[in-house]
Amino acid sequence: MNKKTLNDIWIGGKKVFVRVDYNVPMDKDGHITNDTRIRATLPTLEYLVSRNAAVILASHLGRPKGSVVPEFSLAPVAKRLSQLIGREVKFASDCVGLDAEAMAKALKPGEILMLENLRFHKEEEKNDPEFSRQLASLAEFAVNDAFGVSHRAHASVEGITKYITAVPGFLMEKEIVFLGQALSNPARPFAAIIGGAKVSDKIGVIENLLSKVDTLIIGGGMANTFLAAQGFAVGKSLVEAEKLELAKTLIDQAKTKGVNLLLPTDVVIADKFAADADFRPVSVDSIPDDWMALDIGPKTAEKYAEALKGAKTVVWNGPMGVFEMEAFAKGTERVAQAVAQSQAISIVGGGDSIAALEKTGLSNKISHISTGGGASLELLEGKVLPGIAALADK
Ligand code: ADP
Ligand code: MG
Repeated sequence: MNKKTLNDIWIGGKKVFVRVDYNVPMDKDGHITNDTRIRATLPTLEYLVSRNAAVILASHLGRPKGSVVPEFSLAPVAKRLSQLIGREVKFASDCVGLDAEAMAKALKPGEILMLENLRFHKEEEKNDPEFSRQLASLAEFAVNDAFGVSHRAHASVEGITKYITAVPGFLMEKEIVFLGQALSNPARPFAAIIGGAKVSDKIGVIENLLSKVDTLIIGGGMANTFLAAQGFAVGKSLVEAEKLELAKTLIDQAKTKGVNLLLPTDVVIADKFAADADFRPVSVDSIPDDWMALDIGPKTAEKYAEALKGAKTVVWNGPMGVFEMEAFAKGTERVAQAVAQSQAISIVGGGDSIAALEKTGLSNKISHISTGGGASLELLEGKVLPGIAALADK
């Protein structure tokens, strides 16, 4: 990695501004329903505290759209963090201004202060220079552990780095190392599995990966558009008619580039989009007019698992079928098994893909589970993320 890391800077006794992604789900009574994102930052925070840094935490929560919305207060998050880390977490009721400045100034080595929701100020998302400067004035270094927002040039992510040096936290470092390495210098053979509902969501990813991978495996709803492009009748399956030409182009590009593009040869069809639908596997040339393909078929699943066997790098984004319904989860489960069993460096990204993986109980067999939905997609599309670009170079 060509970026400085936490280990490259002397943080002992320093004030460190740590941008985290504590955008946690809450129920209507304001209780945190899942604290994974808080737990995920503990290694960075414990490291900083153990090195006697004074930690100033900043995050967004929800979409308050630039004004103070009490239900999006980070106060409950500060409380939960305090329980998880077993230390006091002080709380500033605004992220900038006299109070925040005084509290940051008084913060002693090893202490933690959490600032109120950054997005209570519209200047955060506008990347306002003065707001960035105010945030920067609280600390001597910035640490970015919020990969999930690193595709946004926001004040706490990008603007602040114009005033103080920023390095990645351990979570962020892992994202850069795994995704960055896979995309810039992958161990080969390199296989990617792309699925999910629509081609249109993943065009950029497919185009970028076509010039990097050895094998490209397509499943999910988007496979139907590719099947239609190959001339198969796909009944009532989800098809993006306006993307047929693009799908043809991508199939041609794969040929030109020598990429082994794999498409379903059988699918599980259903008579309606419902958990209690009638269903059965059929060959892709036998999809009846009023049925729809909701999963890859068993032969395809085996073929995909086989294709993953020798891979040294595997990137997976998007389920192979409507995994939320038991009857159409088998293709995704089979692929999850194959990825888990392979010796490859395996990287899984995407909210639904991670949910599907967790259902199989195989998450611990994956080398890296990427936390940022939009951010990991943009990296896979080959884009430079402003939050990563702004980190200090070695
Ligand atoms: P991720 O969140 O991992 O990036 P997507 O959001 O792109 O994945 O796609 C996930 C959705 O795609 C799931 O809700 C799943 O039900 C849907 N899906 C998968 N296969 C099909 C299909 N054959 N027809 C319709 N929807 C599908
Ligand atoms: Mg999704």
